[in-house]
Amino acid sequence: MKTVVWFEEVGKEDVPLVGGKGANLGELTRAGFPIPPGFIVTSDAYFYFIKKTGIDKKIFPILDKLDVENTKALQEASEKIQKIILEAPIPEEIVHDIVDAYRELCRRATGSPRKCVWVAVRSSATAEDLPQASFAGQQATFLYVKGPEKVVEHVKKCWASLFTARAIYYRTKQGFDHKKVGIAVVVQKMVNSEVSGVMFTAHPVDGSPKIIIEAAYGLGEAVVSGMVTPDEYVVDKKTLRIIEKKIAKQTKMVVPKPEGGTEVVEVPPELQEKQKLPDEKIIELADIGRRIEKHYGHPQDVEWALEKGKLYIVQSRAITTIREAPVEEEHVEEGEPILRGIPASPGIGIGPVRIVLDIKDLPKVKEGDVLVTTMTTPDMVPAMQRAAAIVTDEGGLTSHAAIVSRELGIPAVVGTGKATKVLKDGEIVTVDAYKGVVYRGEVKHPEVEKKKQVEVIRSALPYPTATLVKVNVALPEAAERAAATGADGVGLLRAEHMITATGKHPVWFLLNDKLDELVEAVKRGIRIVAEKFYPKPVWYRTFDARTDEFRHLEGGETEPHEDNPMLGWHGIRRSLDQPELIMAEFEAIKQLHREGLDNVGVMIPFTINVEEYVEAKKLARKVGLIPHKMVDFGIMVETPAAALTIEDYLEAGMDFLSFGTNDLTQLTLGVDRNNERVQKLFNEEHPAVLSLIKHVIDVAKEYGVETSICGQAGSRPSMVRKLVRMGIDSVSANIDAVHKIREVVYREERRIMLEAARKRLELYDER
Ligand code: PEP
Ligand code: MG
Repeated sequence: MKTVVWFEEVGKEDVPLVGGKGANLGELTRAGFPIPPGFIVTSDAYFYFIKKTGIDKKIFPILDKLDVENTKALQEASEKIQKIILEAPIPEEIVHDIVDAYRELCRRATGSPRKCVWVAVRSSATAEDLPQASFAGQQATFLYVKGPEKVVEHVKKCWASLFTARAIYYRTKQGFDHKKVGIAVVVQKMVNSEVSGVMFTAHPVDGSPKIIIEAAYGLGEAVVSGMVTPDEYVVDKKTLRIIEKKIAKQTKMVVPKPEGGTEVVEVPPELQEKQKLPDEKIIELADIGRRIEKHYGHPQDVEWALEKGKLYIVQSRAITTIREAPVEEEHVEEGEPILRGIPASPGIGIGPVRIVLDIKDLPKVKEGDVLVTTMTTPDMVPAMQRAAAIVTDEGGLTSHAAIVSRELGIPAVVGTGKATKVLKDGEIVTVDAYKGVVYRGEVKHPEVEKKKQVEVIRSALPYPTATLVKVNVALPEAAERAAATGADGVGLLRAEHMITATGKHPVWFLLNDKLDELVEAVKRGIRIVAEKFYPKPVWYRTFDARTDEFRHLEGGETEPHEDNPMLGWHGIRRSLDQPELIMAEFEAIKQLHREGLDNVGVMIPFTINVEEYVEAKKLARKVGLIPHKMVDFGIMVETPAAALTIEDYLEAGMDFLSFGTNDLTQLTLGVDRNNERVQKLFNEEHPAVLSLIKHVIDVAKEYGVETSICGQAGSRPSMVRKLVRMGIDSVSANIDAVHKIREVVYREERRIMLEAARKRLELYDER
């Protein structure tokens, strides 16, 4: 049995023994990259420990009897097991191996096995790459650990982390056998970085391959947290020539404290305006980047550090989204534009037209077809997922078609007025949903492809912002794409699709006395999203569909006919008329909280007075949701009434509020958001709308309540710039817009700081 292995002894095939993290470090070390040295306490050591001490006989019976749905029992079992592990003495032979390895690491680093070095101790999950299984080995990480006893103690802490309540819950739910899941522990020398940063081995600007390096003094966390602006160097990937350098002034840096931990200190004045990384190191680093990219066969996002003149690679991840090479400009052919509309979801789609005028036509939409319809409805979603592009007669940027296609990443042009009449079933068209044009035949656009590349690479660049950038999610199926944007949470999780995915209208559950099935459907949908984002907040917006939206569904035939569904029976006003339905939603959230998904909050839509909000909270209390745990509770500000009486809501107690600018604009301007005839008047940046928003932000600030936006305007740079200036706390954008919006927020925040600094200078000069 191997209890301890060195990085150089393992590779990617050794995940079961050393876990995912360990295997990756081994792979890079073996390939000759300068990885800080270290070893891994294998999963065999863990298994040996629990067997030899006999604690396996105590641990697993506790789990056998456990009902993981019983939160209290789960918590108690977790605490009991962790205590058993932490109190069990590690067998001498294993302690010996770990101490020996640590001494050897010290010797390699300092020349003497007695001179202790700082190490990082991290758990490395052996089941990490199985879906959902990352919970199986929790992410316990301890930085700046020193001395043999401390190292042994922290290895044990990592073992114990295999039995946190969440880890137990998920392994049980996923059907893992607790007895068979092991955990490895990585022990790696900390790099005392004088300079550190990130490197991207791909860059868009002019197509020629470039490497971008960002560098700052001290530990990398200063760059990642946005505390400092790093230097930026651009290196030609072929010749390794430095082609551009931007030197930033750095006054503060993060350094380790002698007793462990970190602190912020002043950069010595003579260094503040100097180039952080000397030219020869820039070239050396770029060369390493080039080689890592070659080793993995993918552009990489690399974290690096410089200690005593030596470069180290701390981590390397593939920029997985970059796949295609830049397109050669060979085949440019102008097609005949036959239709124009609103570009609602960017991209290009080419395929045969399928006209859907009735729900019965849906099955004829095949993979790769261009779906053409008057207006999409929720039951078209499966067909939309198959489509290469979507074109509609009606609808604007906030219409169902627009929202869903953006989320699915399918190009869409909406509000063309006549697509179903002009296009012929079966004819090939090219949908340019960047410009909002449909062409006859197949048309290639190199410049469009280039645009795609820029977006892909932008997504790899980190823009640390003080204003949170969140994402809107409507389909649980899109949770993975949404989470991959790195968004700071879900600012709007729409309920409608998780319910209608059952094929039934919510009232069906009520009429057929099947509310428990409704609870399950809501739970299923929210769980997928909340798990992907945990522990980032996910604001679930309670059911808010208009009466005309779900008529096709089973039970939908009972929906009343309204002349103005937009102003009709939907949102909280309807939920209060049918309290059983919203209570089922609250019940689902309560149960998810009990499972440990305590990141789910509740957002109340379309409210016009505080009484509605208070009533909703009462129902939540009745279900046991509010006293159970402090569930974040808030409203959508999407009626002028709510905006103008916001103080009443704040007095009633709220954790957050979010602007639903789709409705707020429609109601403030009297412009139907789905009527393409008046789309040109639909303007979220109209002074009246902005003034309502400003008022709400100002008042909310007095109450210390988080303000956010989840309407379509939160995905528009010009609007977001204004909101950042007004002091909004977070913005929630569509999946495809998150990266762009993060960049916009970042720049606007910096512009504001720069303006303030300039103003101070002016004042100073005047004095
Ligand atoms: C809004 O009104 O801005 C909003 C986000 O809600 P919906 O689009 O569902 O009306
Ligand atoms: Mg709304």
